[in-house]
Amino acid sequence: MTAQQAHVVTLGTAGGPRWWDPVDGGNRAGIATAVVVGGRAYLVDAGIGAGRQLQRAGIAMDDLGGIFLTHLHSDHTTDLANIALFGMFSRDPQLGRIPIVGPGDRGELPPVSPRATIAPQPVAPHLPTPGTADMFRLLMEAHATDLNDRVLDALRPAPRDLFDARDIAIPGGIGYHPNTCATPAMAPFTVFEDDRVRVDATLVEHPPIAPAFGFRITSDEGSIAISGDTARTANMVRLAEGADLLLHEAIDFDWVDAQYGDTSDATARASRDHHRKSHTSVLEAAAIAREADVGQLLLHHLVPGSTALARWQALAAELDPAPVITQDLARYTFTRQRQLAV
Ligand SMILES: [Zn+2]
Ligand SMILES: [Zn+2]
Repeated sequence: MTAQQAHVVTLGTAGGPRWWDPVDGGNRAGIATAVVVGGRAYLVDAGIGAGRQLQRAGIAMDDLGGIFLTHLHSDHTTDLANIALFGMFSRDPQLGRIPIVGPGDRGELPPVSPRATIAPQPVAPHLPTPGTADMFRLLMEAHATDLNDRVLDALRPAPRDLFDARDIAIPGGIGYHPNTCATPAMAPFTVFEDDRVRVDATLVEHPPIAPAFGFRITSDEGSIAISGDTARTANMVRLAEGADLLLHEAIDFDWVDAQYGDTSDATARASRDHHRKSHTSVLEAAAIAREADVGQLLLHHLVPGSTALARWQALAAELDPAPVITQDLARYTFTRQRQLAV
């Protein structure tokens, strides 16, 4: 990739672990965002189709400077194995390993819903809450038959030669606990740095998953904050303070109420509760952008992914300034416009 102005590519803009019905123009790829600085791309989240969307955006494996996972919900991680298994054929090992940076092991299971009538049994009780490093190792081990063909017969590099999966260490002394205090008030902290960008993180509010992070990527050319999945939280305002761009998630709560409105059904009620306490409306995202005084608000991780663009735009148009409803494969530059204007 040739050097060009720093920009973000919204590779995939739908949230949620679904194959959304493509009627009404909702055919969005899963959540994935590339932040490109000096021709190097930093991928934030790897939702369904992310590998293919990188290719469509003209971002090669050799351009990748890092992969960052906001949290370990499957709509953010499902293409990670795909990117590693298919991408290994087009990555020059001489460029060094691609860091994969994301949440560590949750440490303990979330509490069982008080609505449960029979105690559910956890999946993989021997390792029920793996973090990023364990998840990546297990994904690669699950494909060992394939990988060993490549490594032994075709003399390809192994995943460990190309990728370096790391868990983010949460700073001590802030009172964090995955079940009782998942989003303590905190200052952003640095999780990655190279010669082009610094990546800072904060804990965001997305129960019951924990930890869940928002990221801010800062470069000489400007900065962009990405919310990950979160309800409205002061930590996100602090992280995004003065950023040139804020990419925030948004959910259509009218859809949630219509989808899970059957109050006689415990599963529906639990799903509705989850969305209410774990996500952000268009209106709330705009309030966060105003509080943080960001240059521009872009909305992505749109739930449901099947909602027509016109519906999102109608919600955005009620606000001043109206946030941008992103589309797959759109590009936005993030130069320090306001500072230059002073
Ligand atoms: Zn999500
Ligand atoms: Zn999530």
